[in-house]
Amino acid sequence: MTPETEAQYKQALETSLTEGWEILRSGGSALDAVEACVVEMELNPLFNAGRGSVFTNEGTIEMDASIMNGANLMAGAVAAVKNIKQPIKLARAVMEKSDFVILTGKGAEEFAKQNNIEFAPDEYFFTQRRFDQLQKAKASGKSFLDHTTDFAGNKKKFGTVGAAALDSNGNLAAATSTGGMTNKMFGRIGDTAIIGSGTYAENGVAAVSCTGDGEFFIRQSVAYDLIALMKYKKLSLKEAAEYAIFNNLNSIKGEGGLIAVDSEGNIEMVFNSEGMYRASISKNIPMNIEIYKQEH
Ligand code: ASP
Repeated sequence: MTPETEAQYKQALETSLTEGWEILRSGGSALDAVEACVVEMELNPLFNAGRGSVFTNEGTIEMDASIMNGANLMAGAVAAVKNIKQPIKLARAVMEKSDFVILTGKGAEEFAKQNNIEFAPDEYFFTQRRFDQLQKAKASGKSFLDHTTDFAGNKKKFGTVGAAALDSNGNLAAATSTGGMTNKMFGRIGDTAIIGSGTYAENGVAAVSCTGDGEFFIRQSVAYDLIALMKYKKLSLKEAAEYAIFNNLNSIKGEGGLIAVDSEGNIEMVFNSEGMYRASISKNIPMNIEIYKQEH
C-alpha cells in the first residue's frame, strides 16, 4: 500500500470511529453507534461494503450485512442484496420491523422498498479497482479461498466493515457489512449475514464482529464461539478472542480476525492475517488506529 492509500484508510477509520463515539459520548445507544460507524464505511469506496463492494463471478454486486442488539438478543440480517446503498440500515429494519432474522435477495429488496430504504444504481457501486480484482481473480483460475494474497499479490487484509460497542447503560451491540469475496459465485452467502458466525452481541458478555474467509467463520461459528468461551468457560475477552482465532479458526486453516468489546469495556482486536484495518476508543483509552500487526 502506498503511504497515501494508507493515510486514506486511517482517515476513513477515524471518521467512522468519531461518528460512533459522538453517539456514545452523548449518552446514545450502542446500537445507534455501531450502525453509524458501519454506514460511514459503506459510503466510502475504500472498503468492501456498500459502495466499494467486490464483484461476484457474474460481475454483479451482492452484499451481506447483519446487526445485533445485546440488550434483547434481537438480530437482523440481509444476504445477497443488490443496489442497497447502506445494507446495514436494511439489516436493522429487518430486526426492528419484521418477524424475521434474515431476508435474502429479492424478498429483502422488496422489504427495503416497503421501508423506504435507499437504493442506488449499479454505476454507484462500480469501482475500477474492484473490477480489476475480478479480472485478475478470473485469470488466476484459483478458488477465492486458496490464496493468502489478494489478486494484486498483496497479503490479504479483508475489507469487510464492522463495529462493536458498549454504551453508558451497559448495552452491547455489533454490526457487520460486506460485499463478500471477489469472484464468489452469485448467490453465495457469507458469515457476515449469519448471526453467530460474523456478528454477535449479548449483554453481560461481549459484542463481536468478524472479517475473513467467510466459509471458515461459518464452520467455526466464530462470533458465538467467542461468546460461548466467555459464558461457559469463563475465559476473559482476550483469552476467548485468541482461542477462537488462534486455536479454532487456525485449526481449519481459516484466515481473518475479529473486533470485540466486553461488558466491562475491554477491547480486543485479534487476527491471523497480516493486517486488519481497525480502530478503537473508550473513555479510558485514546483513539487508536492501526492496519498491520507491527504497529504498537
Ligand atoms: N467475511 C466476508 C465474507 O466471507 C469477507 C471479508 O471479511 O472480507 O463474505
